[in-house]
Amino acid sequence: AKASGRNNYQFFTQKMNQAAAIHFDLESSLRTALAQDQFELYYQPVIDIATRTVHGMEVLLRWRRPGHGLVMPDRFIPILEENGMIVPVGAWVMRQACEQSMEWLRQGLQPVPLAVNLSPRQFMHAGLVAAIRAVLEDSGIAPGLLEFEITETALMQQGEQTLEILRQINAMGLRLSIDDFGTGYSSLAYLKRFPVKKVKIDRAFIKDLETSAEDRAIVSAIIALAGSLQLSTVAEGVETEQQFALLQSKGCRYAQGYLFSAPMPASNARMLLARRGD
Ligand code: C2E
Ligand code: CA
Ligand code: CA
Ligand code: CA
Repeated sequence: AKASGRNNYQFFTQKMNQAAAIHFDLESSLRTALAQDQFELYYQPVIDIATRTVHGMEVLLRWRRPGHGLVMPDRFIPILEENGMIVPVGAWVMRQACEQSMEWLRQGLQPVPLAVNLSPRQFMHAGLVAAIRAVLEDSGIAPGLLEFEITETALMQQGEQTLEILRQINAMGLRLSIDDFGTGYSSLAYLKRFPVKKVKIDRAFIKDLETSAEDRAIVSAIIALAGSLQLSTVAEGVETEQQFALLQSKGCRYAQGYLFSAPMPASNARMLLARRGD
């Protein structure tokens, strides 16, 4: 038994070393990714439920890592958060989104608002508001065409400091949404203190909407309370017509998910904008 315990231990440390090596490898590759232009933006439409038209698009980061294909954000955003690189990368995302929007405008398309995700780490960085202002000025984008999403958990973490930053962003004419709502143990009434316009209901509550009476009750409650606070609701991860119909009957305003489209590269998003209004 002693011997096998030792083997287990060796196996365990070997696995640990492997994991550490992969992490190290990822992190050092990420350090050069921005300079080497390996990041890309994908766009996912947000649909107005009443009209089934495109209301806006969420901007989602991808990493085209040489030799590894397209890497999804869950694999690398936590590392960027941890080492602080999310600050320059996040600034790049904002800038790239605004430039893309302006390019579509120059091509004669009618751009829709783009929603960029902001991470907690970006809020802790003193230069956030200045960075946003610089991007608005340099790109010339109308403030109404840029929105930000911040998770419920991030909002709860920071308190007064975050509140002040959100007020400044709001004062610039940019809209704010609460992301992943329902996962962070806060009350909507409390969140009313923040200058937000939209609540994005986390996919966790949408996934089993057809089968779970409990999830239906939670989603109804969120939509009703959001409505009474003049906040509009977006359901995340809508994959089926049944989910869509349920959300419509409950008065949810917007839906985002594979039912309409997965996140797509700029070229496809462009085609979607070009088709709009035909
Ligand atoms: P999120 O902000 O909650 O974004 C929604 C995620 O749900 C996206 O994953 C999207 O592809 C996925 N999704 C959309 N519709 C469906 C659906 O119908 N079914 C399922 N199963 N999933 C759906 P993605 O693109 O992998 O992004 C993961 C997370 O990475 C995002 O979650 C966000 O927290 C973070 N992220 C992505 N881009 C950025 C960024 O530029 N900055 C920051 N700070 N975080 C980002
Ligand atoms: Ca989001
Ligand atoms: Ca979300
Ligand atoms: Ca999420």
